[in-house]
Amino acid sequence: MTTIKAVRAIALEAPLDPTQQVTAFGPRLKASIVLVEIETADGILGYGEALARYSLRSYVGLIEDLLAPRLIGRNAFHVEGLWQEMVRVITGKAGGILLEAISACDIALWDIMGKATGQPVHHLLGSTGRGHVAAYASSITWGEDAVATKQVEAALAAGFRSIKIKIGAPVARAIERATLVRRLVGDGVELTADGNWAYDFDDALRVGRSLAELGYAWFEEPVISEDVEGYKRLRTALPIRLAAGESEHTVWGCRDLIANNAVGVIQPDAARAGGITESRRIGHFAYAHGVPFAPHVGFCGAVCNAAGLHLAAALPNFLTFEAMTFDNPMRQHLATTDVGAVALLREGKLPVPTGPGLGIEIDKGFVARHRL
Ligand SMILES: [Mg+2]
Repeated sequence: MTTIKAVRAIALEAPLDPTQQVTAFGPRLKASIVLVEIETADGILGYGEALARYSLRSYVGLIEDLLAPRLIGRNAFHVEGLWQEMVRVITGKAGGILLEAISACDIALWDIMGKATGQPVHHLLGSTGRGHVAAYASSITWGEDAVATKQVEAALAAGFRSIKIKIGAPVARAIERATLVRRLVGDGVELTADGNWAYDFDDALRVGRSLAELGYAWFEEPVISEDVEGYKRLRTALPIRLAAGESEHTVWGCRDLIANNAVGVIQPDAARAGGITESRRIGHFAYAHGVPFAPHVGFCGAVCNAAGLHLAAALPNFLTFEAMTFDNPMRQHLATTDVGAVALLREGKLPVPTGPGLGIEIDKGFVARHRL
């Protein structure tokens, strides 16, 4: 029986090397997530993850006090119905931290369904049959030139044929960096650039024109995520694909970007957008509009990376997977199974986990050491 018996939420935190990954937001000092463990009556443990940047303990309270009572006693296979109830009980509409909490519970339910049936999650989703998925190196720091150069060399040495760079303001410096990296990799390697909301419309136009001239394949989050009009105008004005979606929650959050063809790549994060259920919905909505799907994982942990890989294997419009290249204990050590690791890269592709559910084992020692 896959009746849900218990729901536990655990806030986890681990330091990052601040010199390794500087973005337009500045250096990131720590990785933080909320791990959800859902237990069924027959002893299956499903794991989910919330992308949790702030106020971690409030996620734990929210999940254990508000969501758990709606999940306990229910069938883990009724994930669509449970998803609708979780959303209704919290706000009645989409909302940031709350959707991230729901994301963690939803991912854990998919893990349970896979373990209960002995199938990997991508089989439950209706897989394309891809055992390996195209991946790009993410990301070359917006920090010092010397560090960025070393990171580019390491990504090439690891076998990546597609590399994303972080850029920010001022515009001239961003163009310098984009030019430097193009010179380093030559013409045979695909490059993309992530602005992390650094620009207004006019500066985004200047940067985007240079990126297009340098042969960059996409320009990610040039302006703030709320500015759908800005994306629409940039899309018309620039000969380069725009990418966004990592900041959105639910298919409703992504609807205007996709339906207006304001982006050329949609990038939901399973630990933020509403779990596997909602990422799949976003992916299918994008498919209907001819927009490719490239799951975001960023600073997430191993559970989110596994969820992203299963979605990559299942969605027909999958484009490329974000393979993070800098050290992050949440990604590298939360599970005893390697997931999304650079060392697993073969011919520019990463393996999709093959075991039941998400196909990963959580390291209980790591959880105990990093629990807040
Ligand atoms: Mg990004």
